[in-house]
Amino acid sequence: MRRPLLAGNWKMHTNILEAYLLVAEIGKCAAGLNDRDVILAPPNVALNAVSRVLLDSDVLLASQNVCWAEEGAFTGEISPAMVKSAGAVASIIGHSERRQIFHEDDEMINKRVLGAVEYGLIAIFCIGETLEERESDTTFDILEAQIRKGLAGVTAEAMKNMVVAYEPVWAIGTGKTASKEQAQEVHAFIRKLLAEIYEKAIADSVRILYGGSVKPDNVDELMAQPDIDGALVGGAALNAESFCRIINFN
Ligand code: PEP
Repeated sequence: MRRPLLAGNWKMHTNILEAYLLVAEIGKCAAGLNDRDVILAPPNVALNAVSRVLLDSDVLLASQNVCWAEEGAFTGEISPAMVKSAGAVASIIGHSERRQIFHEDDEMINKRVLGAVEYGLIAIFCIGETLEERESDTTFDILEAQIRKGLAGVTAEAMKNMVVAYEPVWAIGTGKTASKEQAQEVHAFIRKLLAEIYEKAIADSVRILYGGSVKPDNVDELMAQPDIDGALVGGAALNAESFCRIINFN
């Protein structure tokens, strides 16, 4: 059975004090949730402070991106070793804001994925189609290309550290969620593709998260779908009450 994973991406929100206070609230309501994983991705600058609040908690931390190199002349980047030394165990990679605003392409995202898994981080690898791509019926082609390129060179062994997040770009931060049927259809497609690239046992064990306007009032129906193993949450993860409801999905 795949263990549910609920991840909160705070993007470029919260200063260190705000992050500290928010994580303390979320840590309280995550206490005792032993049948699921909860991961928070605050801004990188707050990772270390926040990790101290979480010392006695099961809540895990992620960086919002990660470089492939251990160190060097990569101004503005954070290395896998730095992520780990700040107390995080995972990194979000290939988020649509990185792809669209910062022009990260599949090749760069693949390097980041390989770097993360090489250093033992959980890679939360994001893919998703734009509205234009969905309307022109190319969703599955786009997702297949993103997966094949993004996972190039990732071994079957390393797939143990991979999480795929399906985030339709048209649903991120827009309040428009994919319907449970649309999301399930894509998740089943991703799992079938992973079985083709690797093998069924691996595809069956990889967690596939849905992201795109997940809120307290839609999380239950999304999580009830057979191939939806969790959620990557943006806006609703910035409010302790709503994120607590989401991690306590029914
Ligand atoms: C995200 O940033 O990954 C995201 C899904 O945002 P939101 O939940 O706000 O749509």
